[in-house]
Amino acid sequence: MELSKRVLNMSPSPTMAITSKAKELRAKGIDVIGFGAGEPDFDTPEHVKEAAKEAIDMGFTKYTPPAGIPELREAVAYKLKNENNIDYEPEQIVITDGAKQALFNLMLSVIEEGDEVIIPKPYWVTYPEQVKFAGGKPVFVETKEVKNFTLTLEDIEPAVTSKTKLIIICTPHNPTGAVIPKEELERIGKFCAERGILIASDECYEKLTYDGFKHTSTASISEEIKEVTVTINALSKTFAMTGWRVGYAAGPKEIIDAMIKINSQSISNVNSIAQKAAVAALVKPKDFLNDWIKAYDERRRYMVEKLNKIPGVSCLMPKGAFYAFPNVKELIEKGRFKDDFDLAEYLLEEAKIAVVPGTAFGSPGYLRLSYATSMENIVEGLERFKKAVIERL
Ligand code: PLP
Repeated sequence: MELSKRVLNMSPSPTMAITSKAKELRAKGIDVIGFGAGEPDFDTPEHVKEAAKEAIDMGFTKYTPPAGIPELREAVAYKLKNENNIDYEPEQIVITDGAKQALFNLMLSVIEEGDEVIIPKPYWVTYPEQVKFAGGKPVFVETKEVKNFTLTLEDIEPAVTSKTKLIIICTPHNPTGAVIPKEELERIGKFCAERGILIASDECYEKLTYDGFKHTSTASISEEIKEVTVTINALSKTFAMTGWRVGYAAGPKEIIDAMIKINSQSISNVNSIAQKAAVAALVKPKDFLNDWIKAYDERRRYMVEKLNKIPGVSCLMPKGAFYAFPNVKELIEKGRFKDDFDLAEYLLEEAKIAVVPGTAFGSPGYLRLSYATSMENIVEGLERFKKAVIERL
């Protein structure tokens, strides 16, 4: 059977592959420490689980509207107003199978064959694959380590052509942990609004910021920027709900209606029970987050400090999300590794730690390590990293 060109051109997610490989090795009794997964190690809060159990007991187990249950669309509108200072009507919101499917539906709704989509590099692995799948052309612009990987208007401007349809902004950023300050978002937003370029604002890590940095939602900046922005978010990272698969998009009604239509002809709706749980997550107090953020912060500082003590490794202090993105170019050279893949493989074989090579994010010479794992794992894993490196040098 011949497969479609569309699917043959798509690469499978390398981060999911590494996570699966680490799990496979662990199942075989090999003591692998996983720094690959982008998922909180905390459990979903109890009141969220209770809401799901209640939904089952009440028989809330049938199809829902493809846009999501009205209660959840209202809860998202309430959240966006109260926490992000953006006014969206519930009709401007679609509930999706995680942020990943929100982005997928958006690409399929707005990209025409040959349209260009600007993607800052390093990038989250999924963006270019979804753009290509929708018939678009990814155009990469590089964010620089010397500028803390923060995206600026100057990075974007030279890449814009008459075919530019969309730009994907991610702040806080996966994999670099960079954040975009409000002033820069405003410059970028104004530029896009003037040219009618759509912005996909991926804000999945909005709550995970450190050192007093406060996240700004792109669409909150002005009405003109809001008109060209689709806000993408999910409950996955904030509420440790990666497996529940609930995300959402909010934006101009005609785009959201198109995304709902895709839901109606593909997934039908997001799991009814998970939607009820999501309502509880969004409207109930989020005090638990303070402890989680404190724990991430401690791990972040520890991990970066230890990484910087490994020969040939230098790592910036990330300002958000839960990833460290060390530069390992010197280590690759001095350790005579072929590239970052070779180094990651060596670390898996020799140190029994799973990390993601930077090439997966379009940036060779880096590694991504998630600190959404226990302090104990971080201490032990980085000790193994250092030992394996010293043995090699
Ligand atoms: N956007 C970014 C930047 C991510 O890192 C991820 C997950 O890793 C997602 C979107 C997808 O999140 P979800 O699990 O809600 O689909």
